Amino acid sequence: MKCGKPLSDQRKEYCYDCAAGNRSFEQAKAMWVYEKAVKTSVYRFKYRDRREYGKAYAKELALWYGSWIKSRNVQAIVPIPLHKKRKKKRGYNQAEIIANELGRILDLPVRADILIRARNTLPQKTLNDAERKNNMKKAFKTTENIVQLRCILLVDDIYTTGSTLDAAASVLKEAGVSLAYACCVSIGKDD
Ligand SMILES: [Zn+2]
Repeated sequence: MKCGKPLSDQRKEYCYDCAAGNRSFEQAKAMWVYEKAVKTSVYRFKYRDRREYGKAYAKELALWYGSWIKSRNVQAIVPIPLHKKRKKKRGYNQAEIIANELGRILDLPVRADILIRARNTLPQKTLNDAERKNNMKKAFKTTENIVQLRCILLVDDIYTTGSTLDAAASVLKEAGVSLAYACCVSIGKDD
């Protein structure tokens, strides 16, 4: 109901992570379970320079969720940023490639400039849930004190626990965004 994760128990409405606490994003959607061919495809897209896959993913995202995005009155698409060192090493931010193509198809502006990735300070595994949330929030910063957008759509390639989207949405909301939705190419299963 919240993040779109397929659940093994059909009687449930929320996955483990969404049931555990408040989410800073309104709702998230994801197309494919991160396994088998999807896993291979996303891996190649991310680590083997298959940038062209991003356009195909965006085309699918537009087919699956285009009308949903429009009906939310999304004003801009914001890709989940990479830390600049990682982006330099990889040569591209995979989420930005998807966001740019999705923006082109849906005729929405893409704002890759308002959210940046700062260095994550502590290893997540040493922290409890509340500390993790706080720690993860430090991973993002907005470049503007006041973001003049009411409703945005975050875009990423993989959704696992949702902590990345949650932190990004939270930081954007502190800067003035009211509504944050998200679209991901793939999503992990609820264990
Ligand atoms: Zn969930």
